[in-house]
Amino acid sequence: MKAVLIEKPNEVVITDVELAPLGNNEVRIQVKVAGICGSDIHAYKGLHPFRKPPVLIGHEISGEVVEIGPSVTRVKVGDRVTVEPQVGCGKCEYCLQGHVNYCENRKAPGIGKWYGTMAEYFVAPEEIVFTLPPDMDYKLGALSEPLAVGVHAVRRAGIKVGDRVAVLGTGPIGLLALAVAREAGATTILATDVFDYCLESATSLGASHTLNISGKENWVEEAKEMVGGPFDQVLIAVGVPGIVNQAVSLVKRGGRIVTIAMFHGEQSLDIMQLQGQEKELIGCFCYTREDTLAAVELLSTGRIRSEAVVTHVLPFTQAADGFRIVDKKEQNSLKVLLTF
Ligand SMILES: [Zn+2]
Ligand SMILES: [Zn+2]
Repeated sequence: MKAVLIEKPNEVVITDVELAPLGNNEVRIQVKVAGICGSDIHAYKGLHPFRKPPVLIGHEISGEVVEIGPSVTRVKVGDRVTVEPQVGCGKCEYCLQGHVNYCENRKAPGIGKWYGTMAEYFVAPEEIVFTLPPDMDYKLGALSEPLAVGVHAVRRAGIKVGDRVAVLGTGPIGLLALAVAREAGATTILATDVFDYCLESATSLGASHTLNISGKENWVEEAKEMVGGPFDQVLIAVGVPGIVNQAVSLVKRGGRIVTIAMFHGEQSLDIMQLQGQEKELIGCFCYTREDTLAAVELLSTGRIRSEAVVTHVLPFTQAADGFRIVDKKEQNSLKVLLTF
């Protein structure tokens, strides 16, 4: 079968790989759509902490089940499905508590022998395969994973009815987190970015205020003035230098900052402000099963206009173009999907 390979940094090719064998509890999915994620771009540049070229890339997927192992009972051939792309050891304290994202032996596509989802077929254990409504657009189904990231971030932040939230960075992850924050009840949502087209999408997904911070020095004060005070929660969805302390200044006393973005290198932190004002800085990595189920439910019921983040749909043979478009933010791109 054909698969998308990041051969070396900045070089994406289509390659031929053997069809993976199917285990007893596994499902073979004919991939219909696979999304290019921000984290795939980190791998593309050779900067991802554990996905290093050469790597068969991809973890966002929707498709149709074409074969099931003998012990599979919940999923059937012909089902329209998506996947939560992580498997824990199942035995450690974290796995037993439902925190697969904490498992020290967590496996994900593109690591070891598990191929990425950007291939004609993808094999996954039944426990992480979830059915979608039979009439759902595959393009929407492929957004379950980034949407689950947004759900997890909103839960980590504890966003509730009436809250005032800032979302820093409105790429696909920031946008989907923003949409979930609104669904959770946030009434005032300010989005910041340096691109107007991203902020227009933020408005369409529920931001009440937007601020283009390009070239601005004192935007933190401006942001607070726009909404009448500091924020209950701040979500960091862009890993640029200085953003952590800006978030610390944006959040109210006792408020929460959740960092979703991937950073390279250490960041400075105004620890005295954090300490003296009881602000909380919270990590956020992937999602749990609960988050994935919520994301699938949000997509299935159409509560969130997730399709607003999709700007490009390309055949997988143009994967190299897709990676370049996302990396360079060409053509006002947000989420780029590959079809198979
Ligand atoms: Zn992703
Ligand atoms: Zn484990």
